[in-house]
Amino acid sequence: MAEMNANANKFEFKAEMKQLLHLIIHSLYTNPEVFIRELVSNASDALNKVRFRLQSEEAVYSPESELNIKITLDKENNLFSIEDTGDGMSHDDLVGRLGTIASSGTLKFLEQMKESKQAIDSNMIGQFGVGFYSVFMVTDEATVESRSSALDGKAYIWQSDGQSTFTVSEGTRTERGTKISFKLKDEYKQYLEDYTVKGILKKYSNFVDFPLSVNGEVVNTVSALWHKKKDDVKPEELTEFYKFITNDFEAPLGHLQLNIEGNVNFKALLFIPATAPNTLFKDVAEKSVQLYSSKVFIQDDCKELLPDYLKFVRGVVDTEDLPLNVSREVVQSSPVMSKIKNVLTSKLLGLFDEWAQKDKEKYDKFFKNFGSLFKTGVTSDYTNKDKILELLRFESSAQPKGETTSLCAYAGRMKPDQKEIFYLLGERRDTIEENPKLEYYRKHDLEVLYLTDTVDYFTIPYIFEYDKKPLISIEKAEIKADDAEVSAEAKEISVDIIKSFKDILGDKVEDVRVSNRLVESPVTLVAGANSLDPQMEKMMQVFDKNFAKTKQILEVNMEHPLIKNLHNMMQSGKNVSEYVGQLYDGALLLEGSLNSPADYVKRMTEIMLEATKK
Ligand code: ADP
Ligand code: MG
Repeated sequence: MAEMNANANKFEFKAEMKQLLHLIIHSLYTNPEVFIRELVSNASDALNKVRFRLQSEEAVYSPESELNIKITLDKENNLFSIEDTGDGMSHDDLVGRLGTIASSGTLKFLEQMKESKQAIDSNMIGQFGVGFYSVFMVTDEATVESRSSALDGKAYIWQSDGQSTFTVSEGTRTERGTKISFKLKDEYKQYLEDYTVKGILKKYSNFVDFPLSVNGEVVNTVSALWHKKKDDVKPEELTEFYKFITNDFEAPLGHLQLNIEGNVNFKALLFIPATAPNTLFKDVAEKSVQLYSSKVFIQDDCKELLPDYLKFVRGVVDTEDLPLNVSREVVQSSPVMSKIKNVLTSKLLGLFDEWAQKDKEKYDKFFKNFGSLFKTGVTSDYTNKDKILELLRFESSAQPKGETTSLCAYAGRMKPDQKEIFYLLGERRDTIEENPKLEYYRKHDLEVLYLTDTVDYFTIPYIFEYDKKPLISIEKAEIKADDAEVSAEAKEISVDIIKSFKDILGDKVEDVRVSNRLVESPVTLVAGANSLDPQMEKMMQVFDKNFAKTKQILEVNMEHPLIKNLHNMMQSGKNVSEYVGQLYDGALLLEGSLNSPADYVKRMTEIMLEATKK
């Protein structure tokens, strides 16, 4: 270990930093082996920076040095060390980067995690910029010797116990890069065993893009898989690579490997995960596709490479068409990016279509997991809207519960004179099936799509039609009189009934009409031609408490015995307003928008009282 230099400068960690170190060492890591992953990851970052600068022809100290990472396990001296030929750190870097917390919110966040007793996932730690300090779990003192890649750089040694102070002094290292070394605490001597360390490296660091050796033996598969020919890539390699870039523990549902040449040039290796994160709409956007330029890593949260509705896709895109020394801003606005995005989108839609045609089980799994997000494509991607429409799946009255249909299959089952595709929005299939509006469609054997996904409320207004067949909510579909046979008796009573219902209900409804859609139920509420679907209105009310519900139209089934009875009562001069009120409230109740169940129940009690008297 480097001796403490006489001219060493001593620094005190800031209070916040001390707290952080304490937290990291004593409560955050449950899994000490991750220190190896963190150190390798830092070495790999440092090497990437050098490679990047070499390729963009910047002046770099010792440009001929091989880019690699060497781990040395010295059992005799109980010494673990890891050395890289990366970009190294200057005196100020050592003080700044290894002495302070990169982000001021980090400590607060980690403390909250600790308080809420949430286990810190060892995969998360890297995200907080505190990975380096994980070495203090396994050692009482660490030494970092570094020679920066600046031409006029000097070597410096950073040393600390990871508790309260660190020192920085001049060093003797002449090679570019960084060497970190430390003695292992007694209880962590296993990290001096070759096979243990190799096992850990296989698990976390197999795809590090630089040779990584343990006691002189290279242990990783250095390969940019996406540069290989499709046929040369083994399925196990794909799975391993996917797990490496995503930290997923499951194999992906499928993948897509592309080698595109022409208008835009890139290689890509994309994966569709087998399961969706809990909060699909939130989580997936964080990390999706990593961008490389000629094997040099550029950034890993490249939002410009995929449209939002495909953000569940993970993987790597590598293009020579971007200059290497690009800034984030340049990447964002580069036309290369939008060209790549277009190709990726179309290829992915092609892949999904292939699944849909050839592997229904796989496609259904995909749609079940990602359908909600995927659907939103119809609201934003006009170019591919038709392709997306083909890929949508819905439950329907023609399918058993849990199974779905495409619009194409629905269209194939349409009656010869049926011009429209019918649907009904609702929270669940069983509540939808109770809706009296279905009676007419059931009787006439017309298929109705059951839209039960909340996202449907937003996407359906963008669909309008499929294959020139308009999509119509059966809440609003007009059913023409000649579609249903109306009896003479019904025609006769309808004038009186409508007048009296209107008098009784007043401005609670927009209108009262003869219903041609009801078979078993006496009344139902329908939306006026220009108003929103009632389910849609409910949705609006969730977002906007002041949203004013539009009035609905009450449709009355003149063939229903109850309506006929009411007509008789009216003819003999009896008051029917309680019954009408009850019918109206009942219709609201079925729709889920009855606000005063107390009145409803009170009226029902009175009616039952009357009925049981006789
Ligand atoms: P992060 O890697 O997320 O930034 P770390 O705690 O792992 O957080 O590392 C802190 C910083 O220390 C890095 O950002 C980097 O600037 C510097 N660093 C750590 N290890 C090395 C290394 N081997 N070579 C060059 N710089 C390094
Ligand atoms: Mg790190």
